Amino acid sequence: RSKRRGRGQVTVYTREIAQEMRRSTQLEQALRNAIINDAVDVHFQPIVSLADQQVLGFEALARWIDADLGFVSPAVFVPLAEERGFIDTLSETLLRKAADAALTWPRDLFLSFNLSSVQLTDPSTTSRTLSILSSVGLDPARLELEITETAVMASASTASRIIEELRQAGVKISLDDFGTGQSSLGRLREFTFDKVKIDRAFVSAITTDRTSEHIVKAIITMCDGLNLKVVAEGIETEVEAEMLRGLGCAMGQGYYFGKPADAAATLRYLYRHYQDLTATRHRGQF
Ligand code: C2E
Ligand code: MG
Ligand code: MG
Ligand code: MG
Repeated sequence: RSKRRGRGQVTVYTREIAQEMRRSTQLEQALRNAIINDAVDVHFQPIVSLADQQVLGFEALARWIDADLGFVSPAVFVPLAEERGFIDTLSETLLRKAADAALTWPRDLFLSFNLSSVQLTDPSTTSRTLSILSSVGLDPARLELEITETAVMASASTASRIIEELRQAGVKISLDDFGTGQSSLGRLREFTFDKVKIDRAFVSAITTDRTSEHIVKAIITMCDGLNLKVVAEGIETEVEAEMLRGLGCAMGQGYYFGKPADAAATLRYLYRHYQDLTATRHRGQF
């Protein structure tokens, strides 16, 4: 009996794997078509100064709504494109769109763009990235590339070279999801970067959990000493924003300041934002 049940389980398991493979192959085909048909979009989420809530830049986030599948999270389709070997095509499409949008913003605002870990293993990433910027006409100094610790550690020497080349060209590097990676702090010395983004997991726990508060405090102190800028990700409430500001965190990002929005809505947001700022300044002046 147990043998039969065992065999039955194996059959079910295999069927599930086969089903899963069909699903991901469908998803892959739909995603490839979406790229070709220009149906993958990019949205933008503001990154603000915690001292005065002024917008400093936007993070570009990939968005895809399929006619049949509906909303598919980038946390699903980005890894799929990585596995199936077309993340470079997807990423180039997204960067071109994001850079195009950034050209319509005030020139002191930066564009933050997520680079895939797979792209950090490909030596042609530098030239591909820079050629997109020059064809769109975006100053490399306005671009920040978000990478994760894990991505750098996976292919340390190629990744370091790509990062150095891009920084030489004026591009800034941000360490995304900081605190969640597998790397030791010591290994962070092996490459240079400009900014650290504290992961949302710490931010959402900061008001209730003293340990998270201490970790965030330590990250901010370390970054000050290393001359790195700090952004807190995933700020959802005024209490979190105030607390992070009190801890000396310079920048914040999260639903409290603005959800990711498409290029047109982002321009409207900026317009309102600058009107508000001007109004505040006048109130202060007169
Ligand atoms: P990430 O780079 O860490 O991006 C931040 C994620 O947190 C985004 O999820 C954003 O919508 C979400 N978020 C921002 N503020 C809040 C908040 O206050 N509360 C909560 N609960 N969430 C918040 P999203 O857009 O689903 O993206 C997920 C991940 O997918 C990103 O994490 C990034 O790793 C990846 N990704 C997104 N777009 C791209 C892309 O164009 N290229 C690559 N390579 N990866 C991308
Ligand atoms: Mg990011
Ligand atoms: Mg992040
Ligand atoms: Mg993340």
